[in-house]
Amino acid sequence: TALVVAMDGPSGSGKSSASRGVARALGLRYLDTGAMYRAVTWWMLEQGVDPADAETVARRAGEPRLVITADPDAPGITVDGRDVAAEIRTAEVTAAVSAVSAVPEVRARLVAEQRAVIGEGDIVVEGRDIGTVVAPAAPVKVYLTASPEARARRRSAELAGTTVEAQRAEMARRDTLDSTRKADPLVMAADAVELDSTELNLDEVVSEVLRLVKE
Ligand code: C5P
Repeated sequence: TALVVAMDGPSGSGKSSASRGVARALGLRYLDTGAMYRAVTWWMLEQGVDPADAETVARRAGEPRLVITADPDAPGITVDGRDVAAEIRTAEVTAAVSAVSAVPEVRARLVAEQRAVIGEGDIVVEGRDIGTVVAPAAPVKVYLTASPEARARRRSAELAGTTVEAQRAEMARRDTLDSTRKADPLVMAADAVELDSTELNLDEVVSEVLRLVKE
């Protein structure tokens, strides 16, 4: 049976770096599901759709064509053939993504595409609902957390022109939206292993996940 490593948790918990590190160490593919929600959000904004207009977002959810490269060394994403790897990380997309990803039609579409990618073989998948919804049978499930301070510090170190305080506020807003939405909210799977990365560096987090994979 296929090896699926489900890596869930809130933003800034270190999921992306850890997931890519684990995929590299094991020679597996890597799927960033957050990038898919961001890509659909980018497209809605580009089309002039108001992210708060759930009805229009739902109606148009199937229109953008996404192609994702599941390579931990060069993860890539295109929308209708356009490379949007940089565009999906802007503050505008980050501010709008929770509203778009709360729309069930958006989730249904992306979950189906994620399952198709997972079905092609062994993979590390990062997101919010991988262990609960996308791949509930995954043999390894990690729920990565960190203190709000550590998460805000990491994010502001990655992004230019922001402060730790601004990041803390933005992350708290997104966490609340992501964990209280009706469709597939962010919750830890009952059989996930919680890993608190507050006091750990990247190598230590990767080693811990590799240990869980070998168990
Ligand atoms: O992981 P990242 O911060 O890039 O995710 C962006 C947003 O996409 C999250 O805040 C959440 O709203 C949404 N998301 C989701 N389900 C996933 C991955 C991301 O709803 N599996």
